[in-house]
Amino acid sequence: MQAAVEGGAVEREGARLLDGAALSQAIRERLAPRVEAFIAAAGRPPTLGLLLAGNDPGSEIYVRNKIRQSEALGIATDLRRLPATAPFREALDIVEEFNAADAVDGILVQSPLPAGMGADAEARVFDAISPAKDVDGFSPVSAGRLVQHRAGLVPCTPAGVMALLDHAAVDIAGRRAVVIGRSDIVGKPMALLLLHRHATVTVCHSRTVDLPQVAAAADILVAAIGRPAFVTRDFVKPGATVIDVGINALTDRGEVVAIFGPGSKKLAAFERRGRVLSGDVHPDAAAVAGAITPVPGGVGPLTIAQLLSNTVRAAEDRQRGDS
Ligand code: NAD
Repeated sequence: MQAAVEGGAVEREGARLLDGAALSQAIRERLAPRVEAFIAAAGRPPTLGLLLAGNDPGSEIYVRNKIRQSEALGIATDLRRLPATAPFREALDIVEEFNAADAVDGILVQSPLPAGMGADAEARVFDAISPAKDVDGFSPVSAGRLVQHRAGLVPCTPAGVMALLDHAAVDIAGRRAVVIGRSDIVGKPMALLLLHRHATVTVCHSRTVDLPQVAAAADILVAAIGRPAFVTRDFVKPGATVIDVGINALTDRGEVVAIFGPGSKKLAAFERRGRVLSGDVHPDAAAVAGAITPVPGGVGPLTIAQLLSNTVRAAEDRQRGDS
């Protein structure tokens, strides 16, 4: 049984369910008047340039959602596509064109780039994005500013997690936070944002010894691993806030049964669609946690809301001449 409570959260099995979809809606509503004010001042909408190279089905969906939500808010989009066979130079040319275009405020290059562009293509493309337009926050300049705790464009997923923690009034200062995962786009910036808010932060990864015990010391546990239901109740301190960043598509019925159980709603959904999503956190963790994010509907919607927020901010900063 779920019952709505104040602040967009719902109660279930003792753990408060942190509703990212509701907060994402609230963030977009707060951005709307800023978009209107920008249009009135600049005589044009804030504009996001996107590059989609290749035809990864996941990327097609992500880019479509980003465009739909941008345009719903009044942000204009300029989508450039490249075939999977395009040379890396063409991706760089598009980024350079966006960098030079006065009417483009934000630049987003959808990952992954096609394998044929080379193993270091993403790093090289992030190197090329103008820091003032780096709405994903992946460029080395943005990463360096984040390390130094200077204002800048912060990667969207960890920024969304911080928004959710604040909205749910979770204490951060002085608390123990454990981040599982050390990627440049989620784990590392997540750890830095928590550190800047005075949490005592431990970063765990594939070589961490005694991971469940380390995780179980956390008041705030963030899972950003990419392994379905990896974080079981043994990883969770009773009452901890558990943030599940993982988005894993399950296409194997046996795996769905093993994780969610034979009579579960997820299995029923799987029977209809042949595919369901699992986070990195096992459903049994909800019985121990004090608060937990669902998948889908937790961190995912906040990532796009933060992208919109970064785009509006980049447009405002450029309009003011701050960057
Ligand atoms: P990644 O593959 O770049 O990094 C995964 C991290 O997990 C690595 O640092 C690795 O050390 C760690 N790891 C792997 N196996 C481990 C193990 N057995 N024990 C401990 N640590 C282990 O992934 P990423 O890009 O950081 O994404 C992580 C997850 O978050 C994925 O499921 C991804 O789909 C999801 N994601 C969600 C959003 C969102 O909007 N909600 C955004 C980005 C990523």
